[in-house]
Amino acid sequence: MPSTYNDIYIELRNALRSNNIASYNLEARVIICSASGKTNTEYLRDMALYATPKIEAKAKDMLERRLCGEPVAYITNSWEFYGLPFYITPDVLIPRMDTEVVVDAAVEILRYMGKFDARILDLCCGSGCIGCAIANEFPASRIVEIDLSARALEVCRKNVELNHMTPRTMFIQTDAKSMPPMGIGTFDLIVCNPPYIPSDMIPKLDASVRDYEPVWALDGGTDGLDFYRKIIKNWKRLLRNGGYMIFEIGEGQDEILKKLFLTNGYHNVEYRQDTLNTNRVVMARI
Ligand code: GLN
Repeated sequence: MPSTYNDIYIELRNALRSNNIASYNLEARVIICSASGKTNTEYLRDMALYATPKIEAKAKDMLERRLCGEPVAYITNSWEFYGLPFYITPDVLIPRMDTEVVVDAAVEILRYMGKFDARILDLCCGSGCIGCAIANEFPASRIVEIDLSARALEVCRKNVELNHMTPRTMFIQTDAKSMPPMGIGTFDLIVCNPPYIPSDMIPKLDASVRDYEPVWALDGGTDGLDFYRKIIKNWKRLLRNGGYMIFEIGEGQDEILKKLFLTNGYHNVEYRQDTLNTNRVVMARI
């Protein structure tokens, strides 16, 4: 007896739930859509139709990988961030909900500055989720995406294309911990979600993060602050007068970041909180 798309969805959902996967509804939906190449809307339209055995086998295969611990974003090569679609591979971190606070802060600051055609630098860009989300809110803005990893930059390039931002985006492969390259110009805003986990915490991370996500995108050195120290100091001269630097930070890194900003001559240090009310974003202006 062939299965309908909905039958497969229910089966996925039950298997995920009985294996204690908290977001079993969402993940089952993401898997059936990906296995059948349908959008959410197309799935809802077609759910009573019969699926081919090939689609059913593909969905089962994805479920197996998920039950072995692989994050669903790497299985389906896709994830949503700030309402936009992103292509995701193990070369980049999976966009986090917490990181939406960075985008919120950037949007708020650019509106406050009245800078609707801002030039924005997305440093340690990974998938490019932050840069794309900001660019989507400001259609006249221009973005420079920087990452050390050529493979991450390739993923980022695809996402910029996917979100129709190619004509106003540049890509540069360079190390955020060294001096900025010559000739990249100045910026109204530098946003950055650098690796910030202290090295000795890496083995203690959740297995789905530790075993699958790129460790170089997480490891911020002995105290987790290596990138912040270098970026605050070395990239400051690229900020235009009144420009802002906005960072995502880890739990408990708020005070030290404030100090780093102030001792390096920045002003107006402010925090923004994530859904658990932890200071997740710190920003300052020059
Ligand atoms: N928030 C991420 C995590 O906890 C870390 C992101 C980062 O290091 N930039 O997995």
